Amino acid sequence: MTQFPNFVGGQWLSSDDAAENRNPSDKSDVIGLFAKADAETVRDAIGAARSALPEWANASPQLRHDVLLAASMEILQRRDELTQILSREEGKAPKDSFGEVTRAAHVLSFFAGEALRLNGEFATSTRPGIEAHVTREPAGVVGIITPWNFPIAIPAWKIAPALAYGNTVVFKPAGLVPHSAWMLVDILQRAGLPNGVLNLVMGSGGVVGDAILSSDAVDAISFTGSVATGRHVAASCIQGPRMKKVQLEMGGKNPLVVLDDANLETAVECAANSAFYSTGQRCTAASRLIVTEGIADRFVDRLQTRMSELTVGNALDPQTDIGPVVDESQLESNLSYLDVGREEGARVVGGELLNRETQGNFMAPALFLEATNRMRICREEIFGPVSAVIKVRDYDEALAVANDTEYGLSSGICTNNLKYARHYRRNAAAGLVFVNLPIAGVDHHLPFGGRKNSSYGPREQGAYAREFYTTVKTAYIGDME
Ligand code: NAD
Repeated sequence: MTQFPNFVGGQWLSSDDAAENRNPSDKSDVIGLFAKADAETVRDAIGAARSALPEWANASPQLRHDVLLAASMEILQRRDELTQILSREEGKAPKDSFGEVTRAAHVLSFFAGEALRLNGEFATSTRPGIEAHVTREPAGVVGIITPWNFPIAIPAWKIAPALAYGNTVVFKPAGLVPHSAWMLVDILQRAGLPNGVLNLVMGSGGVVGDAILSSDAVDAISFTGSVATGRHVAASCIQGPRMKKVQLEMGGKNPLVVLDDANLETAVECAANSAFYSTGQRCTAASRLIVTEGIADRFVDRLQTRMSELTVGNALDPQTDIGPVVDESQLESNLSYLDVGREEGARVVGGELLNRETQGNFMAPALFLEATNRMRICREEIFGPVSAVIKVRDYDEALAVANDTEYGLSSGICTNNLKYARHYRRNAAAGLVFVNLPIAGVDHHLPFGGRKNSSYGPREQGAYAREFYTTVKTAYIGDME
């Protein structure tokens, strides 16, 4: 069985304690044993990141550029291998994994360029004879904590800006998907990072995550995951002995509005893609389909047909559209929500457990009909291939229902009416808005994030990432003899 060690201060460190990583498409397939860090290993990793900070913060931006670009090139060269690793451990269909691996490479090359573009401002002081400069410096030692549903892209879009802007990193990936994270660290390290700049500590949130959060040698935390963990992360960052800068990306209950005048095929494709691809395990997944009365019956009919055409199966099979649910506990949670919906008075189509050649967590996509926005199934994030149709009278009611949620990540509308499209763009209470497009796919060079309980702190990705990964210094310089 292959053993995968932690990476601390430039050394690969094995441990007596290791966790098995299993393939959700075939539970008899053990991918490897991944070392579990204890609190002392995390302290060493933070110490290594602290020691490496002065040199990396003052390194030539050309070096940071070169490392990130070399890593990007290696990812592109090994794209098929990394796609397979991702599909095998997370269960994402090959085309989605391929897209995610490609995105990780593009994120790294984007931030390679950003390393060379970190300019400051020269300002005129209100006091004559004084020069004022506004410059950016690295935030410091950054703790990066990531979820399981984007095993390589999310680590890449946090680690790349951290390194580009001169920070050092202690990285804790999600326990379910350590292999992609391990590969990313290995590739970055061999691309030329000095020892200690990037450290990998694998293991549970309670041990590894909390050791990072409680350290007074960590300056900032970038977290993506659930709202419940996010609240704990934010509270720890504020209440600990050393306050930390914090950025949180969390859940969603994202609406897709379909108006009477929409093109039916476009609307059905947007819904099927946004709700069910990647097994619905996306923070941007459309879990509420808000449909006006004139098109509702045709939309539901056509969407059910489309659902029956989707191939659910082994994530290593190129024909698969939808892979397995990531693990048994997520599968149980999805199925229990089907019961919740039934008890609340909604009707479920689909959602059956499926038998395939291998023992995996295979579930057919599920659609709730006759749902209302007051039901738990329309308020709580399910995070599986499950969506709900909510019928409304008109555009005004659709917009009100779309915004009536504690979340505010992604929001979309299908319409051919420019008046409604423009009004929705301005009034959707979300960080991302889409018109006549699936609501789950975004560009790597533009800001990403949401409102309300979906996000906290500055945006991720694109040039906006510098707000979190740098700190601004304002300097005043007087006369000299
Ligand atoms: P999670 O909150 O369970 O775990 C996220 C990370 O936090 C994991 O690495 C986990 O080990 C760690 N963690 C758990 N307890 C911790 C603790 N006490 N201290 C420190 N770290 C701890 O989330 P998940 O199940 O891995 O991911 C699914 C969630 O992520 C969903 O809610 C989804 O919407 C959200 N998500 C959001 C975005 C976004 O950008 N908004 C993107 C992807 C996923």
